[in-house]
Amino acid sequence: MATYASVLDSIGGTPLIRLTRAAGTLRPRVYVKPEWQNPGGSVKDRAALAMLRRAEADGSLRAGGTVVEVTSGNTGIGLALAAAHLGYRAVIFTSSSIAREKQDQLTAYGAELRLVDAFVPRDHPDSLRSKGEQFVAETPGAWLAQQYDNPANPAAHYASTGPEVWADTDGAVTHFVATVGTGGTISGTGRYLKEVSGGRVRVIGADPVTSSYSGGDGSQKYIEGAGHFVHPEAAVDVWPQALDVDVIDDYVGIEDQEAIDAIRRLARTEGILAGGSSGIALAAAFRIAEGLTADDTVVVLLPDSGRTYLSTYFNDGWLAANGFTGPADRDRPGGPTVGEHAAASPLIERDETVAEALRRLAADGLADDDPVLVAHRRDGRVLAPHHSDIAGCTTPARLRGAATVAETVRPVGVRLGVGLALTDPAVTAWDGADGGIALVLDRGRVTGTVTWRALHREPTLALTEQAG
Ligand code: PMP
Repeated sequence: MATYASVLDSIGGTPLIRLTRAAGTLRPRVYVKPEWQNPGGSVKDRAALAMLRRAEADGSLRAGGTVVEVTSGNTGIGLALAAAHLGYRAVIFTSSSIAREKQDQLTAYGAELRLVDAFVPRDHPDSLRSKGEQFVAETPGAWLAQQYDNPANPAAHYASTGPEVWADTDGAVTHFVATVGTGGTISGTGRYLKEVSGGRVRVIGADPVTSSYSGGDGSQKYIEGAGHFVHPEAAVDVWPQALDVDVIDDYVGIEDQEAIDAIRRLARTEGILAGGSSGIALAAAFRIAEGLTADDTVVVLLPDSGRTYLSTYFNDGWLAANGFTGPADRDRPGGPTVGEHAAASPLIERDETVAEALRRLAADGLADDDPVLVAHRRDGRVLAPHHSDIAGCTTPARLRGAATVAETVRPVGVRLGVGLALTDPAVTAWDGADGGIALVLDRGRVTGTVTWRALHREPTLALTEQAG
């Protein structure tokens, strides 16, 4: 058993665990690297500590200073624990959409949490990034870690993660699979493994199928931390400097549902509880392993634990509410579902002309008040839209005579999963009254709409009959 001089010294040195059940009949050896064994619970402890130490060394962070970061959570946690240990103030800018458990962990370390939820491009003054930069500009002694562009981020993995994988496989690793958020993990680890193996190790980027890194449309997804989102109004798609695209040999695109399936299976067959981005990495690893031989050794980096996502990917209610399926669906009692009452609504874009929109809708033979989904512009869609890409709803009647599509759009706040039973609290609590419309989610994507009237027709009828 190792003894460490401090919690910071215990960062890194995570083991490899061979998969013996979840890998099924696959020929290669498959090992996972559980990065939640770091003290803050994720791979990002490594980068956080390295960035902080470099800032101390180059004088940008001094005693009494404030550590600041804009983060989807895990980097903030690494910085917050290091700041707590070293006596710095930590201020973390993040969004309320990140796992609640990460928010609570940040405050547990004494970090101050600033939640910013404006849905605007990154250069907008109200964006999360701009708010973080503004705070640093106004706060004496504040240092912004900037994990996306900080060379200490990939360097941490070149110095630790890469050598660990090489040593723990005795140089037998042939494939390294990791997700790509800032790119720090895959770039640093991948570069080391390529150098030490004389270029033999293949580096695979496991990416959400919508991520622009692997050629996706840049739309939002559910799994936190992995992939690259592009705001629909962004003028340019800016990639992090921490990402070294030359290191990645291939990408494998994975859907949210596949990632969720992979971690639920891993928990139930292997007894290993991993987080959502781990599911992306695992699903990608299993796909490439199908084409490999018994001479191959695949190492899959699992960034954080499933304990952070017990209320989401491992929660049957959350899965149903977002149109995902889980093993419990097979046991659910029958009965009418949202999906049976939903209509596949046509989709138009907010910035197309009214004439164009009406011409396209004419072909669908819609009634005047049929709902039409209005989406923000997104070129080359790979899946049905994410709900953040939906500007709202309109109708053919509202469009006729309007000057722009935008002026006819009414917001739709309610979302219901396709598999929710009509008796589910999410449905019965929806007080939409006549004329209310909800977005219907199938595997997390918006595939249509359902009217309040359609959903409540049966209960309403039953009540009328009783009353009569
Ligand atoms: N998964 C999770 C859960 C993360 O928080 C991150 C960091 N954003 C990643 C994967 C990706 O790691 P990296 O930034 O090193 O590419």
